[in-house]
Amino acid sequence: MARKNIAAGNWKMNTTVNEGLDLYKSLSEHDVPSDVTVIVGAPFIHLSSLVANKHDNIKIAAQNCHFENSGAYTGEISPSMLADLGVDYVILGHSERREYFNEGNDLLAKKLNAALSNDLSVIFCCGEPLEIRKAGTQNAYVAKQLEEGLFHLDASQLKDIVIAYEPIWAIGTGETASPEQAQDMHAFIRSILDQKYGSDAAQDMSILYGGSVKPANAKEIFGQEDVDGGLVGGASLKADMFKNIIDSF
Ligand code: PEP
Repeated sequence: MARKNIAAGNWKMNTTVNEGLDLYKSLSEHDVPSDVTVIVGAPFIHLSSLVANKHDNIKIAAQNCHFENSGAYTGEISPSMLADLGVDYVILGHSERREYFNEGNDLLAKKLNAALSNDLSVIFCCGEPLEIRKAGTQNAYVAKQLEEGLFHLDASQLKDIVIAYEPIWAIGTGETASPEQAQDMHAFIRSILDQKYGSDAAQDMSILYGGSVKPANAKEIFGQEDVDGGLVGGASLKADMFKNIIDSF
């Protein structure tokens, strides 16, 4: 997809179905600027209610999916089920999935293929833990995540991908990467996309920053040249805060 301004919310394991629906309806009433794409990532059981109340302005994402379309995988949800329901996106490789559910790059590559073959768009997350940032090796760490998880795709498949850079030390901690730290990493990600896929593909990729984005810091972060928006956790659970973030481009 051509490069877009994107405000994506990740509700994680929060809200009841009714609370999520109220939040979705409140966002739907917002006058979303025409150059901003808004996405909400909701728990699986919320998705059918959200799809039934779907508003063109607010795209719907799942937070995970399996790599098979069906089979003996108790408790799992497949990409074909999500696509059939009318879900638009799936978030893959969130650091909480990588850390708590041992999702590695090879598994994520399989999930990515399965999502794309079901015509789901993907928000593909990457980002380094604190010890890697302290050691100054974050570029190599993120490059490896993308090379192993994403770079098996061909250039034509990138149109359905959004990359979210989320330094783990900034997720849910209240600590945000500085605008310069975000810009440096986003420019680096774009440079490795350029090397692998060429400049048109690299320039077309939307790269989101995630990690304690709030109304107070969104404008400055989104204003960085290579930052195309945010993947927002905590602040996406409050309609007023998220609307404010949507208006920060
Ligand atoms: C996230 O869940 O991806 C995230 C960035 O969370 P928070 O905004 O709460 O740091």
